[in-house]
Amino acid sequence: MTVPPRDPEAALRPLLPAIAARAAARDQDGAYPAADVAALADAALLIAPLPRAEGGAGLGTEVAGAAALARILRRIGRASLPLGRLYEGHVNALRLVLRDGTATQRAAAARDARQGLLFAVWNTEAPGDPPLALYPAGAGTWRLEGRKVLCSGAGSVPRALVTGRPGGDADAPARLLLLDLADQAHRADLALWTAQGMRASATGSMEFSGLVVEADALVGPPGAYLRQPDFSAGAWRFAAVHLGGAEALAEELRAHLRRTGRGADPHQAARLGQVGIALETARLWVEAAAQRAEAGDEGAAPYVNLARLAVERACLDVIERVQRSVGLAAFLRPAPMERIARDLATYLRQPAPDRALAEAAAHLLDAEGGIGERWG
Ligand SMILES: Cc1cc2nc3c(=O)[nH]c(=O)nc-3n(C[C@H](O)[C@H](O)[C@H](O)COP(=O)(O)OP(=O)(O)OC[C@H]3O[C@@H](n4cnc5c(N)ncnc54)[C@H](O)[C@@H]3O)c2cc1C
Repeated sequence: MTVPPRDPEAALRPLLPAIAARAAARDQDGAYPAADVAALADAALLIAPLPRAEGGAGLGTEVAGAAALARILRRIGRASLPLGRLYEGHVNALRLVLRDGTATQRAAAARDARQGLLFAVWNTEAPGDPPLALYPAGAGTWRLEGRKVLCSGAGSVPRALVTGRPGGDADAPARLLLLDLADQAHRADLALWTAQGMRASATGSMEFSGLVVEADALVGPPGAYLRQPDFSAGAWRFAAVHLGGAEALAEELRAHLRRTGRGADPHQAARLGQVGIALETARLWVEAAAQRAEAGDEGAAPYVNLARLAVERACLDVIERVQRSVGLAAFLRPAPMERIARDLATYLRQPAPDRALAEAAAHLLDAEGGIGERWG
């Protein structure tokens, strides 16, 4: 049985050099960072999201854990963006089960996490695909028809929360299903994941047609997954991982400038300074967004919408400045900055960025009081 770490940040620290060292070799189509996930499990980081009362550290489930979770997500992202993506999904999944699950479902999820099982959340459907459908199959069971795409950890992750629509009715509120996928790896197809980066995230489609699940696979009421402000506000967690990737790129830039003796050149110094501004701007946004989101603040969703876009902008600026400063060498394999920039540019593509900005703008337009007083 895994013993919960008193200090998850201290438990993570010694793992990071090996995770970063393995990331280069793992940059292969269809790869999955099994050794890294096992290391997180051994250090009790898979149970860290459980509330302290249930043996965890309350990361992502208690307001007090928000700042620590932000640092953990950043540091994992710094070592490996694909692992950061998988860990962020795990935290999200446990959070949803703990929020909406029955006592039995919560206990089962806690037991599985203690046994080192990684969880995922798979919501995305391909444009033009019908929604994943649920049909009653007798004796309280449900039969699934359809597939999900862009599933991180497809074929490797043993537990996943997926969204499905009763009767395949696209207008019906989505239900969340917690699936045991231990014997379902044959449903994964990683062939379509030809993205330039995040190759080691085992992102692929999962064909669920014909899978029959028990009634107790349903978690929470209809529409629970999209409940606001949690749905939008949870975006702070992927922003934290993105920031970690940008920090790793900045580290590579600094090493390059030291190695080449070019750091004192005023143009190079100016770009490194601007990278420092971008990183700290993003860090301040992530920390503030984490606090508001985990406290369930009124206004958390628009605040996180702004934060995710500010962090995206900062990461894009860092990529551009690193590539400008280093030049062609930043594009030559096996330079770590080549891989990290590919991973970061790919992972920065998250759902509906225009809508996130428009919703935040609408919030500011309608907010009572001075715009300068809105956030404190
Ligand atoms: C590495 C990686 C791992 C992932 N893992 C998972 C996972 O495990 N589970 C999961 O569910 N998903 C996963 N995803 C999918 C992810 O959550 C997003 O759905 C996906 O990345 C969105 O990409 P997109 O840029 O095509 O988004 P889109 O939302 O399609 O945005 C593309 C552009 O179109 C605009 N746009 C969006 N909607 C409209 C509209 N209606 N009209 C006009 N313009 C519009 C956007 O603002 C943006 O400019 C993963 C993605 C990546 C990159």
